[in-house]
Amino acid sequence: MSSIILPKALSPEEKIVAMREDAKFEVASDSDAENTALLCADGIKGKASPPKIPKLFLASGCVFNCAYCGCRCGRDRKDNYCNTPRELASLAVEAAKNNGHGVFVSSAIYKNADYTQELIAESVRIMREELLYTGFLHAKVMPGADSLLIARTGKYADRLSVNIEVAQSSGYNRIAKQKNKDNILTPMRDISDHILEAKYERVKFATSQTTQLMAGSTGEDDRTIMTLSKALYRKYRLKRVYYTAFQYRHEAKGYENENLTYTVTPYWRMARLYQADRLLTLYGFTPDDVTPADDPFLREDIDPKAAWALRHMDMYPVEVNTADFDTLIRVPGIGITYANRIIAVRRHCAVTHDILRKLNIPLKKCRYFITCGGRYEGGDALFSENLRGYLTSCGKQLSISDSLSAGEPSTLESKILL
Ligand code: SF4
Repeated sequence: MSSIILPKALSPEEKIVAMREDAKFEVASDSDAENTALLCADGIKGKASPPKIPKLFLASGCVFNCAYCGCRCGRDRKDNYCNTPRELASLAVEAAKNNGHGVFVSSAIYKNADYTQELIAESVRIMREELLYTGFLHAKVMPGADSLLIARTGKYADRLSVNIEVAQSSGYNRIAKQKNKDNILTPMRDISDHILEAKYERVKFATSQTTQLMAGSTGEDDRTIMTLSKALYRKYRLKRVYYTAFQYRHEAKGYENENLTYTVTPYWRMARLYQADRLLTLYGFTPDDVTPADDPFLREDIDPKAAWALRHMDMYPVEVNTADFDTLIRVPGIGITYANRIIAVRRHCAVTHDILRKLNIPLKKCRYFITCGGRYEGGDALFSENLRGYLTSCGKQLSISDSLSAGEPSTLESKILL
């Protein structure tokens, strides 16, 4: 008779260590994105970023086999763990207490999507009703999860998310074979509908949803990503799209025939995507503005707002004493905060370059695009071929150590998901 050797169950401490590794595949907050400094450096700052929160997982062994994920079933993993809803609820409440800002509850797909979603719903119920947790709670929705289970989860969560992952539907077949457009977009639509219904009926439900989108997984250009993000914000009222870099360093079991090549999407591309996203969501730019059809990739050496200004030099210089808010925020180096400061000062006196310096507005970049009372301090830049060079020299240097492995730019209309 052969004997069955059961794997040793992990202790709570060992589970937490393993969860930290799994958390790397999940971007769930602005601070995870680690690009805040770069956004600020280029004057494309948004609202204050929420603090980083701990991520706790119900289970790590997934029945799906996404090529990029550490939890995929094709991976021979020794430290797989699974929690009961009660165990997960206690771990999550404890972690939230230590962090003070909230907690994110997620999971790999354990057995199937609905079963996992039911366990997540029960975990968040215990957190709220039995452990009386009142802080911020972000809960994951599984691909293809039933609408009723989403409703049950959302009753206890503040935020829900389902990850879209790829920018082109063909990408699912290439790197996430069990996922498809329907099992991602249907839960996303359900969440959006539930949020709206709850708002009208004044019942308790999550108030926002986010998603994660990987760049570089299908050789897509940035125009494809920006167009998709804009559509997601509009159609499903997403709070945020988080961008993450597709990495494929080792051959994944089950993908031997897919011709997947070694891919390391560089850090600078994520930084530029976050900047372009801010321009879409807060500055009134369109995907065409940041990634026009004849220039569909964001650039490593120049931020997307400065790149847009270079394509529209006929609009510059603008007079800071008369320009409206929307014009001011399109000036490279002047963001929402600085535009508000300029307009506030204008009520009392004429704005000069010295006043801009006193307001801490970085003239290094914006001086090429403005006049103050008719005075221009940008030298011969406006008429110079070197303006792009001046701008790149005052932008924050992005990491260029990694190489971009992306295929040919694709035809947007034929491949975009929405
Ligand atoms: S479904 Fe999620 S957890 Fe499972 S392999 Fe894919 S990305 Fe990983």
